[in-house]
Amino acid sequence: MSKAYTRDYWEEVLTALEPEGRHFIDGEHRAAATGETFTRPRPMDGKPGPTVSRGRAADIDAAVKSARTAFESGVWRKKEPLEKKKIMLKWADLIRTHGEELAMLETLDVGKPIMASLNVDVRLCADGIQFYGEMIDKLYDEIAPTGPNARALVRKVPLGVIGVITPWNYPMIIDAWKLGPAIAAGNSVVLKPAEQSSLTAIRLASLAVEAGLPAGVFNVVTGYGEETGKPLALHMDVDMIAFTGSTEVGKLIMGYAAQSNVKRVALELGGKSPLVVFEDADLDAAASAVAWGCFYNSGETCHASTRLIVQRSVRDVLIAKIEAVTKSDIALGHPLEPATQIGALIEEAHMDKVLALIAAGEKEGARRAFGAERVMTETGGFYVSPGVFVDMTNDMSLARQEIFGPVLAAIAFDTEEEALRIANDTIYGLAGAVFTKDMDRAHRFSEAIHAGTVWINTYDMSNFATPFGGFKQSGFGRDRSVHAIDKYCDYKTIWQQFG
Ligand code: NAD
Repeated sequence: MSKAYTRDYWEEVLTALEPEGRHFIDGEHRAAATGETFTRPRPMDGKPGPTVSRGRAADIDAAVKSARTAFESGVWRKKEPLEKKKIMLKWADLIRTHGEELAMLETLDVGKPIMASLNVDVRLCADGIQFYGEMIDKLYDEIAPTGPNARALVRKVPLGVIGVITPWNYPMIIDAWKLGPAIAAGNSVVLKPAEQSSLTAIRLASLAVEAGLPAGVFNVVTGYGEETGKPLALHMDVDMIAFTGSTEVGKLIMGYAAQSNVKRVALELGGKSPLVVFEDADLDAAASAVAWGCFYNSGETCHASTRLIVQRSVRDVLIAKIEAVTKSDIALGHPLEPATQIGALIEEAHMDKVLALIAAGEKEGARRAFGAERVMTETGGFYVSPGVFVDMTNDMSLARQEIFGPVLAAIAFDTEEEALRIANDTIYGLAGAVFTKDMDRAHRFSEAIHAGTVWINTYDMSNFATPFGGFKQSGFGRDRSVHAIDKYCDYKTIWQQFG
């Protein structure tokens, strides 16, 4: 029977929580070499958050050294595949066993609703580690066709030390998307979580060691982008950076790779995803998909459906339905209230940026249909209500910039050609969707939208079997699915001549 969670219950969990904020290097917690720490206001109420180690180049050096030593020793990469699998599966189980604690750490850091942290983020993190754990003893190498007097083995080998840099919007999930395949492939990892969301990364590392992952295979160094992420990306002994974050920082990561050791990079970047609704669509289904697709996680989602491209004849009725769904189903509230569906934005500076973009959009002529205002100020936290802007064209800043808040830009179209042109008129290519009952058109459209994922008559459906990532300035390289393993490996040919 599932537990009946209450606000009081979660308040007690929070009170009892003793977050560990030190780095995790070589199998143990360590303070920063300089002894420096930092704290941030809690998004839920603005009170001071936990103390976290402020990493710098010396901490990155220590973590990379530990990762390299573990890799070279073969303590993980040469272990029997079945043994490695058991350890990863135990790690996934420990994540589930410690689900409430991890959920609270995540909510404390990022302000998302506790029930979402528990039922979505913890679950998908554990599922991700399990998915790649299960692959370990099913990965085969190849024998290439040669003449009878030779044998050429084509081995898939791990790269070595992987630097992982992640954002704050889905910390545990995105960590698992990268840790799972990187570690399953036999690599060692140094993870630099976003400065806003350090706590679950640190706890994932201690749980990994508890599950049996050898010391040094998975290290965490916390800190700011410039101070901690940059030295990791510039490090001469790191073989690859797997990055998720903004397009702006993604470009810097490519530069760091070029300036240092030509390390590989995989980039999961921003988005401004179109959701196109034709007049023949099921408008109730479309309204629900638009509202959840854009407002879930307070709009702090890379593939959020932030551009609604709607046939003019049904625009007003669809906007009315979106408003109704938003107000009845998507409860904005305190993150520890079990009924809350969307919580706080990550921090005050980000909230101010969202509000400034809204003000700029209004100046450009966008008309507010509803919402998109600062609310719940009495909590001390950073809350913006979900809202929709209409009378928009695709060249307005609300339609072009990634707002990363609960703000929908609605743009009307008249013809299919126009809808497609608007959908693809963006620097991003992460995701998109089309709503129509005409299946020929649905397939035509889904092929033509230039994005890594396109949904037909739904939004944000996914599982671990499907790759995720973008085209254009949404980056390259795919997380999730069996293919994600490939980017953490390379091919090595071993040619043997007989006779
Ligand atoms: P961000 O780019 O500001 O930061 C991401 C990470 O990079 C953080 O860990 C940060 O500390 C680090 N960083 C910042 N400057 C750095 C530097 N100079 N060198 C090295 N590391 C540096 O992004 P964010 O604000 O944390 O996250 C939001 C962004 O992430 C949005 O653009 C969103 O679309 C994107 N995102 C993309 C995906 C995807 O899968 N495509 C998923 C989630 C988020």
